[in-house]
This record gives sequence, structure tokens and C-alpha cells, in this order.
Amino acid sequence: MKLTVVGCSGSFPGPASPSSCYLYEAEGFRMLVDFGNGSLGALQRHVSPFEIDAICLSHLHADHCLDMCGYHVVRSYGPGAPFPKIPVYAPAMAPARLNAAYGMPQEPTMETAFDFTALSPGTFEIGPFQVTAALVNHPVETYGLRVAHGGRSVTYSADTGECDALVGLAGDTDLLLCEASFLDGPGNPPDLHLTGRQAAEHAAKAGAGRLVLTHLVPWHDDARVRADADRGGYSGEIELARSGAVYDLG
Ligand SMILES: [Zn+2]
Ligand SMILES: [Zn+2]
Repeated sequence: MKLTVVGCSGSFPGPASPSSCYLYEAEGFRMLVDFGNGSLGALQRHVSPFEIDAICLSHLHADHCLDMCGYHVVRSYGPGAPFPKIPVYAPAMAPARLNAAYGMPQEPTMETAFDFTALSPGTFEIGPFQVTAALVNHPVETYGLRVAHGGRSVTYSADTGECDALVGLAGDTDLLLCEASFLDGPGNPPDLHLTGRQAAEHAAKAGAGRLVLTHLVPWHDDARVRADADRGGYSGEIELARSGAVYDLG
């Protein structure tokens, strides 16, 4: 399984990265997890947009799903279009929300290009991947996603505040891709996002093999986020996500 960080900017695109988007590849199958604003552009540095086989959306905040609108244009009007409907696993409100974001009339809808399946907690197959979804601690319906293949796994926190379910989902995972949106300190709102320290604490409790901090908000100094993580009691390798980074999990 190969993981490519397409976008890792938190809440909005930054100068060095679009919003959240991760490309998972195995056995020639390509799956996107999240499709935040700006990521459709950066995606094309890594793969043709016509060669995506499935999409998972952790939640329906704009920085995780908005480029589905541009991608509808790709699938509907690109050379050789229309392409077969692509499976999209997302919270149940996704078709209505994305139709509104695109400005679709009543008919046709986003469903001309996408075959939506409503996410719920549990384990299911997407192509060669075994995907486990668990609700995490964010103000809207949001799923952390563990993707496993060939005995290796990557667990993505999505957006979350402190969350026992994330620790369970990430148990003994090879790589925890964990959000770190806040700087450590007083006054952070609860049940919304994590700090680097809290991300490291979750990685330690889960026994994760490696921690990659993501959803990095452009107005913060990344070095502060990294320093916060060093205080989380996690003994494994910690690094900051960056757009274009590739992790080959064998
Ligand atoms: Zn977000
Ligand atoms: Zn969010």
C-alpha cells in the first residue's frame, strides 16, 4: 500500500498545500480519502484524475469535500466522458450538500457521476482495501478511517477533538495520520480539533508505529506544532505531513 499526501493544509488551503486529500494505492487501485479545496489541482501531479477508482469523505466540511464539485466536471465532461459512476463513501447528507455546493438543479444531480454509499461505523471492502470507519469527536458527523492492505494499515484521524474511539481505531496501526490543528495552550475549544501534544498522546495510547501530523493550519508555525508533539509522550517517529510526501507501506 502506498500513501501519497496530496493535501494536508488545515481548514483552508495554504501556500504550500491544498486542503485535506490523501491518495491510497494498492494492486493498481486508487482511492482518495477526502477531497478538500485545492486538492484536485495537486492530485494531477501524482495521477491522472481519470484514474481514480473510489473516494471516501470523512466529513462534509468544505476543506474535506469541496473539490468533488470540480471532479464532477472531470467525470462528466472530460475527453471520453461520461465516465462510469465512481463509488463515493461519505456521510449520508453528501449528495444533498454537494448538489447545493455545485449549484445543481433538481435534476440531473451529482449522482450522474458519483455512486454514493452512506458511511456508518464498521468495516467494509473498497477494492483491495479493508476500510474501518469510526465516529470521531467533531461538531458534524465525522469518521476516522483505518485503511488496511497486505497486513499493513494507515489510520486517519479526520478532524477530531480528544477521542477514545480514535485510539481504538488506530490500535497497533503502522502509521497514524493525525490532525494537529491547534497549538498547545489554554483556551482551545473542546471537541473540535487536537494539538500536536494530544495527537502524540493518541499515538502513544494506540501503539501506532509512526505519527504523521496533518491538517496543519497555515496561520500556525509548524515548528510549534512539532514541538508540542514532542511533549506527548510518544516514543515513535514523528513528522509533519507535506503535500507530495509518499509513504510506501510495502
Ligand atoms: Zn478540516
Ligand atoms: Zn472539520
